[in-house]
Amino acid sequence: MGASPPPADHPPSYWAATRGPGEQFDALTSDCETDFLIIGGGFSGLSAAYRLRALGADCILLEANDVGWGASGRNGGMVVPRYKHTFPTLAKDYGRETALAMHRAAHRAVDLIETLVRDENLDCGFTRCGHLTPFVHEPDAKRFAADVDWLANEAADTVPRLLDRAEIETRTGTPFYSGAYFEPRGGAVHPLRYSRQLAAAVARRGGHIHTRTQVLSWSREGSSIRARTPNATVRARRLLLATNAHTDLTQAGTVLKRCVIPITSSLVATAPLTDALRKAILPQGNVVTDAKRLTNYFRISEDGRMIFGGRGGASHQESETIYSRLRREMAQIYPDLADRRIDFRWSGRVAVTLDGLPRVGKLNDQVFFAMGYNGRGVALATLLGHMLADLSAGQPGELGPITGPMTTIPFHAFRVPAKKVVMTYYKLRDALGL
Ligand SMILES: Cc1cc2nc3c(=O)[nH]c(=O)nc-3n(C[C@H](O)[C@H](O)[C@H](O)COP(=O)(O)OP(=O)(O)OC[C@H]3O[C@@H](n4cnc5c(N)ncnc54)[C@H](O)[C@@H]3O)c2cc1C
Repeated sequence: MGASPPPADHPPSYWAATRGPGEQFDALTSDCETDFLIIGGGFSGLSAAYRLRALGADCILLEANDVGWGASGRNGGMVVPRYKHTFPTLAKDYGRETALAMHRAAHRAVDLIETLVRDENLDCGFTRCGHLTPFVHEPDAKRFAADVDWLANEAADTVPRLLDRAEIETRTGTPFYSGAYFEPRGGAVHPLRYSRQLAAAVARRGGHIHTRTQVLSWSREGSSIRARTPNATVRARRLLLATNAHTDLTQAGTVLKRCVIPITSSLVATAPLTDALRKAILPQGNVVTDAKRLTNYFRISEDGRMIFGGRGGASHQESETIYSRLRREMAQIYPDLADRRIDFRWSGRVAVTLDGLPRVGKLNDQVFFAMGYNGRGVALATLLGHMLADLSAGQPGELGPITGPMTTIPFHAFRVPAKKVVMTYYKLRDALGL
């Protein structure tokens, strides 16, 4: 397979327009050697590089585009101590002890961001402003009630709670929802600023970052890895793949590209809201990811815009249809925003796995990976990047199904028509509340 150029389908986002200062990194132009070579300059790769430097290891990170160019610089910035599945479901599928370990890990992930922000003085708007998962249908109310009960009874965690119709209306400023799961320890971050400032922290601590440097392929040569880029070759003892939904960019993605399905998620940012709307919508500063299968997520930006996201198209093509649909979905929840001007619109790629869980693991004794966050990667990719570094440096951590091999997705070649079928099916289930 030949190297494909980076997709040119990524328009500037609100995050890019407000990204603040950051370091410019050079492309790699001469051959070099390192102990650890990381591919991918998003949260996973940057967190791995930061951890490796903390362990005193020599590392080089190569990014095909720019720091935070992938999902890490385009997402909703919701910092969520949860997985796609509820904890009772995880306990049923993997056992109580594993579910408890995963609960601890989800919170450790948010704590890790908090620690990084504090230790490195990252000016990225991180706040534990509280995360809401509102719902409309009764089965979701039951699912989240069971989650709250399980956490209280099994994990002695009584912090998350259910909000009734009146409370969620007050918190969101819309009568659209019938209730919500409220996690006060969740929060928000400016994702591109977080990416760029974490990269600067890695550089300050002696990590080498090269952007605009696509790894075209790599091979094992004796006890080392040889990675080829357009202008230079890197020899390394260990290779860390942190390419998530962009794993199919080049041959460097190896078999892992068949283990994740890239799904497009899109966002719009309105013009700044009027004072009256700002007082009415999310007045307590919470951020929202609703409970639908085809999720909508939204928050108010620092300068008072509504940032509203949802599913993109089945292919990765930008289209008017996607953004018109997002606008309609936003107007269903907030009719007052129907005519609000849209100032920014952009998309990114989420990596979906067969079982809805991310993975950190190894392909062999030299090649390691972390990916597959299923749209929950702001906190989890920070944690799994850290775990990836530990694993590759010979300090294994065990986290049930999250630590282990990736499962190849059957019929991966048919993913685009399959995505269309699945989206239609989920749309129907969301509409019927099934
Ligand atoms: C629109 C959108 C909204 C989201 N909202 C949220 C949210 O609100 N909360 C949440 O928790 N999660 C959210 N997510 C998920 C979250 O953003 C991701 O899980 C997380 O950013 C993944 O980080 P990463 O570092 O693993 O991958 P990425 O940030 O995608 O980075 C991978 C990088 O690898 C590089 N790369 C690939 N191949 C090569 C190569 N051969 N050589 C060099 N570089 C290469 C790419 O250029 C890319 O920059 C969202 C995702 C999207 C797309």
